[in-house]
Amino acid sequence: MVRSDKAMKIVDLKVTAVTIPMEAPLRWSMGVETGTTRAIIEVLTDDGITGIGETYGGNGVEHAIAIARPFVLGLDPFETGVLRHRLGVFCIGYETAVPAVVRAGIEMACLDAAGKALGRPVYSLLGGKVRDRVETAAYLFYRYRSPSGAGGECCPRSLLDRAEELVARHGFRVLKLKGGVLPPQVELETVRLLKSRFPESPLRWDPNAAWSVETSIRVGRRLRDENLELEYLEDPTANLEGMSQVSQAIRIPLATNMCLVSPEQLAPGIRMRSVDIILADIHFWGGFRENQRMIAVCDAFQLGVGMHSDRELGISTAAMLHLAAASPTMKYAIDSHYHDQCDDVITEPFRYQDGHFAVPDGPGLGVEIDRDKLDRYHRLYLEAGQVNEFYDPERPDWVPALPIF
Ligand code: MG
Repeated sequence: MVRSDKAMKIVDLKVTAVTIPMEAPLRWSMGVETGTTRAIIEVLTDDGITGIGETYGGNGVEHAIAIARPFVLGLDPFETGVLRHRLGVFCIGYETAVPAVVRAGIEMACLDAAGKALGRPVYSLLGGKVRDRVETAAYLFYRYRSPSGAGGECCPRSLLDRAEELVARHGFRVLKLKGGVLPPQVELETVRLLKSRFPESPLRWDPNAAWSVETSIRVGRRLRDENLELEYLEDPTANLEGMSQVSQAIRIPLATNMCLVSPEQLAPGIRMRSVDIILADIHFWGGFRENQRMIAVCDAFQLGVGMHSDRELGISTAAMLHLAAASPTMKYAIDSHYHDQCDDVITEPFRYQDGHFAVPDGPGLGVEIDRDKLDRYHRLYLEAGQVNEFYDPERPDWVPALPIF
């Protein structure tokens, strides 16, 4: 029953860890993503409403939820400002106690419950949607081959084949190359092939800080000399100072989800002109409200806004779509790993249509947990443990010391 005429109270907080494999292992500069481990968070209210949220999973999250628990119980799920106040101490002095990603998962569950109580979608609580569907980039990875035979993209030509497959299957317009894996000159050849085959497609390239400042500048000048235009270059090198030096040397828009990922980095990053585009992240920044605050700063300083992805399942994907739908200045297609993941824990997994995801219109986040799948992938988590993406199982002695190139 919908009840919005009186305060609600959270009476319980649950967390269930799940592990879901990737179709094939995805390579990145610091390791390999063989799957995703997520924490599914549920807040139960005295009205009998259950709000659901999602964040990164593993033992640390369960510990953080235990710390947050006494501050969350008794809270009205509408009052996310009070939630922020109650957990605020942890974002000032004790970030590791209840990290931003956990605060985000709790806030997500609260707003799902609030939306369900009103019979309204979360985007209505964020100011309303300005778009019915959200464009998504084709995330392209060099992949190891899986036992089933999927993957195996290890060179520019095979990566191009993968791009053609994904564009044909899902209708993507925007392409994103995950780099920082092969030497820059090899990845540059991949960029040439992609630009030649898809000349109208905006292309972004993300080496995850695998390059030194000098390499980043050298690659940037090559791109300019060959007239290979990127939509943006994402985190070519590490930290605000490195990105600032690259930014001053080359005229390619720089985006980040690595060097500027928290409120206290906004002022120095803007002063140093380290980035042109900040990639929102529902988890890194600590939830919907913190992302909205960050985007307001971006608007004031004329910075672009996109959205980062890190192997979310359907609950977080829904949250990302509500945030994107309610963010008029988020002009860049968002990232998503969705097409690389084997399964989900929601009853109706998302489907791409013409390279877009439809924004859910149901109450709350507009998605529901599939209890059988939650149980199945919780068992897999118990058997297989937490996915460690900072490790390369094919190169057990490899230490990913950045910069690599
Ligand atoms: Mg990135």
